[in-house]
Amino acid sequence: MQSGKNLVVITDLDGTLLDHYTYRFTAARPALDLLAKLDIPLILNSSKTAAELLSIRETLNNHHPFIIENGGGIYLPKGDDYEVIALGTPREDFLPVVSRLKNDLQLKFRGFSDMTDEELSEYTGLSQQESHNARKRDFTEPLLWQDNETSLRTFSVELAKHGLQATQGGRFIHISGITDKGKSVAWLRDYYKRLLNNSIYVIALGDSPNDIEMLNNADFAIVIRSPVHEPLLIKKDNLLVSEHFGPEGWNESINLCLEKLNII
Ligand SMILES: [Mg+2]
Repeated sequence: MQSGKNLVVITDLDGTLLDHYTYRFTAARPALDLLAKLDIPLILNSSKTAAELLSIRETLNNHHPFIIENGGGIYLPKGDDYEVIALGTPREDFLPVVSRLKNDLQLKFRGFSDMTDEELSEYTGLSQQESHNARKRDFTEPLLWQDNETSLRTFSVELAKHGLQATQGGRFIHISGITDKGKSVAWLRDYYKRLLNNSIYVIALGDSPNDIEMLNNADFAIVIRSPVHEPLLIKKDNLLVSEHFGPEGWNESINLCLEKLNII
């Protein structure tokens, strides 16, 4: 049995806590309230930017650390401000490489840096302000892939030669340095261990391939079922696959997991 004190929940957003189509989290409200009541920190771990996550945290009334851009950076609250831990390669350092490879390999894709706020809104259904926040990136470049799988493999091989990688997210291919959502989980484990002078027990929730490392680094992994692809295949002892999609599945799985751990 785990006491509520050393439990930490780390969650993906799009398609996991937020509905894939509407970005709403209403269905997860009861489980969110339950975590708050039990004083269990909820840490957002997303491919989204700091600007986007700050806005979502406000909506969720969340005051915990958060992980931006697929593990590229960790924001730790310090009074009214944040300490930023950079784990990824700065985007401005690798954008020229992406652009050169696009040209050399004659690839077809649109990166966030090629798009206007309006264009991104068209692809995502986000408002213009939300698109603006989504384009303020520090560690990743999402691409709308308009080419075939073979080209993507060739591109990935070339990226690797530059210490870069392409990761499949819910809608976009994310270009970044060699970091992932899992490394940020490991970093936070150490952080909480120092802070609490005790080990933490990590429950993680995700739906897409870019969540696999995070789920593998958790003590209890929850795969959230997606309306657009098959559930992730993960081999792990403490594993749960939700019955419902997105926030509904989130709500159901948090309850089930806390029951299994004898917390509720
Ligand atoms: Mg997702």
